[in-house]
Amino acid sequence: MPTGVQVPTRSAPHGVTILGATGSIGASTLDVVARHPDRYRVVALTANNQDERLFELCRRFRPAQAVLRDTAAAARLRDRIREAGLITEVLAGADALVAVARAPEAVIVMAAIVGAAGLLPALEAVRAGKRVLLANKEPLVMSGHIFMHEARASGAVILPIDSEHNAIFQCMPPGYRTGEPPVGVRRILLTCSGGPFRTTPTAELAGVTPEQAVAHPRWAMGRKISVDSATLMNKGLELIEACRLFDVTPEQVQVVIHPQSVIHSMVDYADGSVLAQLGNPDMRTPIAHALAWPERIDSGVKALDLFEIGQLDFERPDPGRFPCLKLAEDAARAGGTAPAILNAANEVAVEAFLERRIAFPDIAAVIARTLERLPGSSENTLEAILAADAAARIVAARAIGAPAVSSAAGTA
Ligand code: NAD
Ligand code: MG
Repeated sequence: MPTGVQVPTRSAPHGVTILGATGSIGASTLDVVARHPDRYRVVALTANNQDERLFELCRRFRPAQAVLRDTAAAARLRDRIREAGLITEVLAGADALVAVARAPEAVIVMAAIVGAAGLLPALEAVRAGKRVLLANKEPLVMSGHIFMHEARASGAVILPIDSEHNAIFQCMPPGYRTGEPPVGVRRILLTCSGGPFRTTPTAELAGVTPEQAVAHPRWAMGRKISVDSATLMNKGLELIEACRLFDVTPEQVQVVIHPQSVIHSMVDYADGSVLAQLGNPDMRTPIAHALAWPERIDSGVKALDLFEIGQLDFERPDPGRFPCLKLAEDAARAGGTAPAILNAANEVAVEAFLERRIAFPDIAAVIARTLERLPGSSENTLEAILAADAAARIVAARAIGAPAVSSAAGTA
């Protein structure tokens, strides 16, 4: 028998599938994965319709499969892959997204599609018992109970990528697993940068442009989440997300504006201890944390320089300036299908704002009108949630005066 220090056996690299590989989170994930070829290998990459970008990623990471939701874009990618002599198999459509999410070659699935469109593939990865790195917050908001229930049934480990939730997870008691009620925790302090309009006079908000709204002061993100950060709907969705991931009530979550975005959130314990996770605002930190958990690996993020930061400020959010936060709090309290209705109306309203069809304050107005017109139900089944999502898109589109857009299940 050998004695002394055991040399750990080097296992084969873990297979990683990235849903939403061409987006902001996808790029950060591939950046971390590329730093650790001994630990991770890319199994499948997916995107909506960005065949050019996905081709470049296939050339670099050589996945076994690539999926585009859009069939015409997939045909273009297939031609490029063949011309380049690559072995990647190209698949198309929403069913193929779901199929790669459960494929046995991947141990880890990064769920980084934006919006409700990511629900079914992310849920499939959970049902298949994967380690699911969940960036795509909208499915958790819509159907978090189902996600946590399915994870318990399959043994899947859900690790939050949203920087706040990843921070909260890191501050939870030792051995904590998502979905469990945390013992000894009094409150969660959910931090928020306040977005680009934290100090803009409210009278000027009617005239702000999509370009101004997506220019986040601290984080570089996709367009939809950037608008959500400007309205604070992002924080509202994150409040609901926190309730589902950590099994706490909305009353146990306090939103705190912290403009420097250095503290990514905190956990307040019964004994008065408050634990915080700090770091430079760079999504590669939560991504590296969740990829390697419970180990720690290099993420490429530079060390935090507290002397450069100098001070940390905190403010209470102004409900008059940020009505979306209150709408989300109410939906969190109502439960059932209300969060799905809120989320769908928000997706429709944000898209209309980005297309300059409505003004910035109309986002909250459209969501409020949709919630008024659609009575939510207490039903928590996937069918009820998908039906509420589809109905909310129609009502929200009518409120804007536009045709309905596609829903989580892929139909209008
Ligand atoms: P993004 O817009 O940059 O990328 C979205 C990805 O999803 C792209 O690869 C796109 O091709 C794909 N996609 C879009 N619509 C699709 C559809 N209908 N079917 C299949 N694929 C589709 O978005 P992002 O900023 O990377 O955000 C992704 C998710 O992560 C969002 O849910 C967001 O809320 C969450 N998140 C992002 C950040 C961040 O820093 N970017 C932080 C926290 C949470
Ligand atoms: Mg966040």
